[in-house]
Amino acid sequence: MSISRVYSCDWRECNHHVQTGGLRPPLFLTVEADGGDPLHFCTWDCVLKYAAEKPPCETIPMGVAD
Ligand SMILES: [Zn+2]
Repeated sequence: MSISRVYSCDWRECNHHVQTGGLRPPLFLTVEADGGDPLHFCTWDCVLKYAAEKPPCETIPMGVAD
């Protein structure tokens, strides 16, 4: 049995989405916001557009392991 769900890009002007049976959407970028649900973006372009609307004092941990 597989459970798939659809992830949509969280940039409001973007209609990209992807369906997956995994815990995280393939090819999408996952952003862990403080105290909120993870956000998903199809490209860095959408991440930057989303971040540009945030107040400058707010930081967005990208959750990138290095
Ligand atoms: Zn997008």
